Amino acid sequence: MSKKIIFLFLSLMFLVQAVCSASVPTVRDFRYSILKASADENYLHMEIKLDSVNQKYNLQVNPDNNKQLLLTIFNTRLKNDNLKQIDLDGTIAQQISFQQKGNDIQAVISLPYNAGLADYKSHLLSQERHLSGSALTIDVKKMPNKPNNMSLSAVAGHTIVLDPGHGGSDSGAVGPDGIMEKTITLAVAQKVYNILVSNGAAVVMTRTTDKDVYAPNDSAAEELQARVNVAEFLKNTDIFISIHANSFTNPTANGTETFYYGPSYQGQQLASFVQSEMIQANGLTDRGTSEANFYVLKHTSMPSILIELAFISNYNEESLLNSDTFQTLMAQAICRGINKYFQAE
Ligand SMILES: [Zn+2]
Repeated sequence: MSKKIIFLFLSLMFLVQAVCSASVPTVRDFRYSILKASADENYLHMEIKLDSVNQKYNLQVNPDNNKQLLLTIFNTRLKNDNLKQIDLDGTIAQQISFQQKGNDIQAVISLPYNAGLADYKSHLLSQERHLSGSALTIDVKKMPNKPNNMSLSAVAGHTIVLDPGHGGSDSGAVGPDGIMEKTITLAVAQKVYNILVSNGAAVVMTRTTDKDVYAPNDSAAEELQARVNVAEFLKNTDIFISIHANSFTNPTANGTETFYYGPSYQGQQLASFVQSEMIQANGLTDRGTSEANFYVLKHTSMPSILIELAFISNYNEESLLNSDTFQTLMAQAICRGINKYFQAE
């Protein structure tokens, strides 16, 4: 009797297989997950389940829109209408949508950034003996630090002076682990510079290396006036942004804040846009925006702000400030804030 059942079962299997192979191959299912490639790098792992094997496909960056990957699966149909549009993680990729195009299925994967060749890879897994069909697997990797691809159209044509605080003989505040403020401010300013320039702004930095702007061991007034001069001697400087890290005797002091020169309404606006973007990005304590009579704020004639990224005297924030990921996050946030300021103008 058991032999009979096995025979019946096998016959049924052959029948099912014959019916399946006679029909048009279909896309049956889609799923995705986020996997870790390294400590600070994730990738999006997508699996498109097919009921056929050796399915021909093609994956490429959309030549007309670099924020899209186009996947064509030749000679297939969608089995399930639920697969037409699926939201993805939102950070690495936003959405995949499947569409029937003649005999083929075209899937459009929308990305939040321009895709380069190094940003994605794909492969087709062959059928396993006990499975019916195959899976088309696409891994989309987001390159860390892609600030150059941020689209901030409102900064184009504006002249911006960036002032990385301290430098050279003046290390600025030094954290419990020995990290110097002058190093952090320059690293963040350089990232801000790259983003703004790639979006069409004219950007000048008061210093681009580890040096005093006026002279080694100069007076504070000489040094700060030299920084102000960079902005004042340029034609049409629209805004001046000084970047610092905070410090306090109490090591628990923490958070992000932005200063502006009181009488300047535009300075206040700029400060609040930048502050709000930074807090959204870093999740640290929001110390808000405040008026201050700091030399570089008071002596610049254009709207100017002084950013305190976080407390270098706080052990946790010192280590954040020293990480490339945090620096990038902050640089991007500052640029978004600047963009919003020019948008609102
Ligand atoms: Zn400082």
